[in-house]
Amino acid sequence: MNRKERRALHKHVGPAAQERMSTQMDQFGKLPQKCDACQEPFDKKDKGMLQSWSVVVKQETVRLFCPDCIRKTQEALENVSKENIETSAG
Ligand SMILES: [Zn+2]
Repeated sequence: MNRKERRALHKHVGPAAQERMSTQMDQFGKLPQKCDACQEPFDKKDKGMLQSWSVVVKQETVRLFCPDCIRKTQEALENVSKENIETSAG
């Protein structure tokens, strides 16, 4: 997923880094403040949330999903494929 961000964890922090951070904060300012599916409130100051929540950008629309809803979506997809297998098996 975000390997670049992990690599960016240098110990050296200069003014340029701070500038980049403020740019990123600008982008976070456009984020929705809750999960698009379950309306769970999102706190953009919470680093744990920033790492675990997923942002889906489609054209101009920015959507935000909490870990629960991401997991449910994945499980639903898995169930669908399982059902297909069971149906074909008989
Ligand atoms: Zn949710």
